[in-house]
Amino acid sequence: MQGRITEHNFPNRAAIFQPEFEKLLAGAALDTQHVTIEFNREVLRLNDENDCVQVTAHGANGETLTYRAQYVVGADGAHSVCRKHLGLPLNEVDKFDVRHVVIDVVDDIDPSPMALTKMGWRRNFFSMPAPNGRRFEFSLRPDETPEQLLDDDTLRRLFKPWRNYDDLKVIRKIVHTFRSRIVPQLSVGRIFLAGDAAHLMPIFGSQGMNSGARDANNLGWKLAMVIRHGASPALLDTYHEERWEAVLKTIRMATINGKLQKVQSIPMSLLRDLFFGLLRLIPAATRYIREMRYIPKPFLRSSLVRPAHEKGASKQLIGRILPNPGVTVSGQGHLLDEVAGNSFALIGIDTSEGDVGAASALARRFFGNCIIVTQAASSADTDVHVNGQYVRAQVADNRFDGIFETYRGQWLLVRPDRVVAAAGPLSHLQADASAILETMFSEQHSSSHPAPPASDPSPSPVPA
Ligand SMILES: Cc1cc2nc3c(=O)[nH]c(=O)nc-3n(C[C@H](O)[C@H](O)[C@H](O)COP(=O)(O)OP(=O)(O)OC[C@H]3O[C@@H](n4cnc5c(N)ncnc54)[C@H](O)[C@@H]3O)c2cc1C
Repeated sequence: MQGRITEHNFPNRAAIFQPEFEKLLAGAALDTQHVTIEFNREVLRLNDENDCVQVTAHGANGETLTYRAQYVVGADGAHSVCRKHLGLPLNEVDKFDVRHVVIDVVDDIDPSPMALTKMGWRRNFFSMPAPNGRRFEFSLRPDETPEQLLDDDTLRRLFKPWRNYDDLKVIRKIVHTFRSRIVPQLSVGRIFLAGDAAHLMPIFGSQGMNSGARDANNLGWKLAMVIRHGASPALLDTYHEERWEAVLKTIRMATINGKLQKVQSIPMSLLRDLFFGLLRLIPAATRYIREMRYIPKPFLRSSLVRPAHEKGASKQLIGRILPNPGVTVSGQGHLLDEVAGNSFALIGIDTSEGDVGAASALARRFFGNCIIVTQAASSADTDVHVNGQYVRAQVADNRFDGIFETYRGQWLLVRPDRVVAAAGPLSHLQADASAILETMFSEQHSSSHPAPPASDPSPSPVPA
């Protein structure tokens, strides 16, 4: 897949082999030394108690295991036990119901990294690269059963224009159903839902796993703030506030995309093909589709994001994910994300040294880091300077050019999920930051679950 390298410095599309990816994630989680992973446990039920949730599970040998947790995140997929425990329905966003038979093959004759979609009016065909081979998909017609499509004779017939089915080394074949659904709320009390447990969407647009990752990215730092830094449990209510609408938008995009592909009449399919045929004559339109620019970009409006004081500035950055340029710190190349760490960051855009004392004090109130980024071309001081209070990072590519233009001399308050929560000259930002701290630490909206005492008031170390 030829992904476009985005302002976040990663390709916007990449083919990922899920078992490998899960191994990497599990390894990274274990490396933090704060995580225990237990496999072969089947969660049977949850019980809400006053100050915790009790989780009962079956172990590998059928033994009963009990866990007590301050908070539970049910990321247990489409048939979630956690969702059933909460009694939350998976409401239909649309009556979309498309099924595909998916056939994974190793040692295929086509090693190309390109994906092919062949849309017809009776059936669609997909071929895409997969580790050591390819994945093929055929859509099912409404009157067909999974058994019919998994049958070797049917597959032999369907594969005829593409491959000799009997020559294929098939390692897996399965029928998947794609639906558009979402729960009405993402949490109840101490139990949260994330990923497919909370929402299902058609694969068209490839956003299912991505949406689950965004859920985790939004909820993770908030749980850490509550458990580790004594923030108010009301902070956790912003998980629903910030994610629900965003996921709904993504489901709608994937559904429209799926409906365009699902067309089942000759005139509609001709119209569709004519439309896309004409679009191909416009290079910008081709780019828009090939680079998947139709996927909604995260944009937050919530009590944890403060509108800009200056007209026009909000459009550019506030509520959006901060671009992630390469930077140089102490002569070493990094990504800005790595320098900012997993905490809040107060980022000065070519700001004066005079701000540093107040800015780092403010960053400490967020248990965060203070960073000044400079633009190589405009900064006389190209030396890297770390004094324990802040990091000076020199931007090494053009991903911050627009930001330097608009925000030079201003500060950005960036959340651990890299959403820009506020921006402005330090005097303005201090007021916005205080309002956000008030939302995070005020007990007045607090629901039934009391905050634990702050256990570690020291800021995370500033990486250098
Ligand atoms: C054919 C296909 C192609 C796709 N392509 C893409 C794509 O290109 N891009 C994309 O972003 N998404 C894609 N998706 C969607 C993506 O696979 C899912 O959205 C994602 O896997 C959901 O992750 P999850 O962790 O929420 O749930 P799951 O992957 O379903 O994981 C849930 C886990 O919970 C465990 N579990 C369930 N119940 C219990 C219990 N009672 N006790 C203990 N454990 C339990 C399960 O064993 C499982 O390990 C695709 C999906 C399909 C079917």
